[in-house]
Amino acid sequence: MQTMTTNDESAKGARRGNPGRPERTCAGCGKHAEADVLVRVVLDPGSGEVAVDLARSGFGRGAHVHGSTACLAKALRGGFARVFKAQVKVDAAALAEEIVNAADRRIDGLLGGARRAGQLAIGADAVVEALRAERAHLVVVARDAAAAARLPEIERAIASGKAVALGDKDRLGRLFARDQVAVLALLHEGVAAAVASTFGLSAPFRPRAEGVASADLKGEAAAWSSSEVR
Ligand SMILES: [Zn+2]
Repeated sequence: MQTMTTNDESAKGARRGNPGRPERTCAGCGKHAEADVLVRVVLDPGSGEVAVDLARSGFGRGAHVHGSTACLAKALRGGFARVFKAQVKVDAAALAEEIVNAADRRIDGLLGGARRAGQLAIGADAVVEALRAERAHLVVVARDAAAAARLPEIERAIASGKAVALGDKDRLGRLFARDQVAVLALLHEGVAAAVASTFGLSAPFRPRAEGVASADLKGEAAAWSSSEVR
């Protein structure tokens, strides 16, 4: 298996800025960015199809694109083909859906790992306690958890951009073998950052109710946008 850092066209000469945080080139807008704000895709040379590789696990030849509909559209119009020097067969809607699904899987894995490490507060009481103790680095609120979102501590977390709206109470509950979970808090800074950046990459491709607060979540739309959850 080849390693990702030497295998990606866009990695050439793209190590600047923060040491240890390699930069890549977006196949859409052509700008350099740190790898963790870009979606990595890999080409299947046989089929000409591209697959999303959010974990940047390194198989295959990679290209990168900002988590934005404009950059993805440009990359699909020719940016990916230039990087891969091959035709790319994929439509924007399918790739956007795959980005969201891959992000969900990665976030589920990160939340599960945080729980096993004792770095996750589950449920409103535990989350409020963690916020009061300033131990919560990121709050995950189910989209249908309007009551939890109105608790003052959680409202403040939302207003300060330390929250993302993701899934619903049933979905969060299933992750932890409970009926329903309205709210979670990540207590580990690095894992919280990984969840936030993974969410941010996929946020522009999600249904509006995810990532952006609905009216009954008090319209804190700005705090829920992808750029403010980092
Ligand atoms: Zn871009």
